[in-house]
Amino acid sequence: MDTCNEYWEQALTILEAQQNISALAFNLYIKPIVPISMSSNVFTVKVQYDFVKEIIERKFLNYIEEALLFINKGNQMSLKIITGNEQPETEENPEEIKPVQPVENNINFRMPNGLMPRYTFDNFIVGTNNQMAHAAAVSVSKNPGTSYNPLFLYGGVGLGKTHLMHAIGNEVYKNNPNAKILYVSCETFTNEVILAIQKHENEQFRQKYRELDLLLLDDIQFISDKRATQEEFFFTFNDLWQNGKQIVITSDRHPSAIQNLTDRLMSRLAGGLPIDIGYPNLETSVAILRNKAETQGIKIEDEVLQYIAESVKSNIREMEGALTTVIAYSKLITNHNSVITLDIALSALKNTINSFKPEMSVEYIQNVVANYYNFTTEDLCSKKKTKDLALARQVAMYFSRKLLNSETLVSIGKKFGGKDHSTVMHAIELVGRKMEENPDFEVQVTDIEKLITGK
Ligand code: ADP
Ligand code: MG
Repeated sequence: MDTCNEYWEQALTILEAQQNISALAFNLYIKPIVPISMSSNVFTVKVQYDFVKEIIERKFLNYIEEALLFINKGNQMSLKIITGNEQPETEENPEEIKPVQPVENNINFRMPNGLMPRYTFDNFIVGTNNQMAHAAAVSVSKNPGTSYNPLFLYGGVGLGKTHLMHAIGNEVYKNNPNAKILYVSCETFTNEVILAIQKHENEQFRQKYRELDLLLLDDIQFISDKRATQEEFFFTFNDLWQNGKQIVITSDRHPSAIQNLTDRLMSRLAGGLPIDIGYPNLETSVAILRNKAETQGIKIEDEVLQYIAESVKSNIREMEGALTTVIAYSKLITNHNSVITLDIALSALKNTINSFKPEMSVEYIQNVVANYYNFTTEDLCSKKKTKDLALARQVAMYFSRKLLNSETLVSIGKKFGGKDHSTVMHAIELVGRKMEENPDFEVQVTDIEKLITGK
């Protein structure tokens, strides 16, 4: 299957192993690239910001095109990068463009009601961590509106809340294709509320929600601090609930830990007995990975799955990511049918596992800033004082202070090769002032902050 996504996955594997691209640069600039489409000689991708596009074109274009050349068996493809809201141009010869993935193969396919068919009970592995949540979800899907209402599932990132939520929706849909179901993220819900208020379309908004049989609201923790959305949700909730309609809600924390929730909404949310999903143990993690590999028809040794599960603890999404990397890498270097061994997995993952967990620290900030300005961290910590270098150093100091509460002027100075606290203070003032005076510099600093925080 030579789809655009598959090409890009292979390209990532090659680029990650490329000696001339540091793990940091890879994670900052290359990993976030999104493949869009490909024609016979143009590969189109998208990045969020113009400045990232510039950096990629300046530093990595050759490497990326080289990787594509290799994957495309020696046929050249040029890379076209679009940003933000730009739409891909229509090519002269539209039939040549291959879609990113045909719908039926696209695992991220969504139905109009927001449901993702790929998340079902069949491919949800039950372990001690999610047994209760699974049982409740099954029960709700069999008899919506009767047992747990609302069903409130909570737990850490990547532990299967969204999966279970879609599984309920898919099961209800299977049993009753006429049921009115809607999956909505809290973010979308909030946007709809705001838009309805702006356009004076509150009535249409309410109508849409009140006619549902099953409402699935994902990640409700984002409702904290949003009064209007809370109000609207409270009324929607009551309406559905009083009419015996099922409501399923997920959150990364217990209702009582969601800040600034109105009391009445809080008591509604907690009313249906919140159930938590915990961290999977090794056995469950391995079973999840095995299931995922098997559905793709991939042969993989058990010790590989164990290695992945042990190395990438506590987040199933990341575990799956590591497995995907191993599979893509193995396709690249071996015959497609051979079994994936631990050796293959080790080389596929040597750059990802344990080596890149950006923990916010002075060192990390120095790395990002140095990389941005084409210096090294040693330069930043040196006594050299060329104008450009001094500025880069000051920016790094500025962010060390701004983003790290535990660092003081003194401790920051020390980590920049033993500078005085007054030097750090001066740097912070200078960067602040320069940002006010010079809009271009301000943009630069904002860009760097996005790189550092990953937002
Ligand atoms: P959350 O919403 O809790 O952040 P997701 O539901 O998005 O997490 O799950 C992250 C990934 O892990 C998804 O691809 C999901 O299919 C997978 N996953 C999580 N738990 C399980 C499980 N018990 N069995 C199979 N896959 C799972
Ligand atoms: Mg989720």
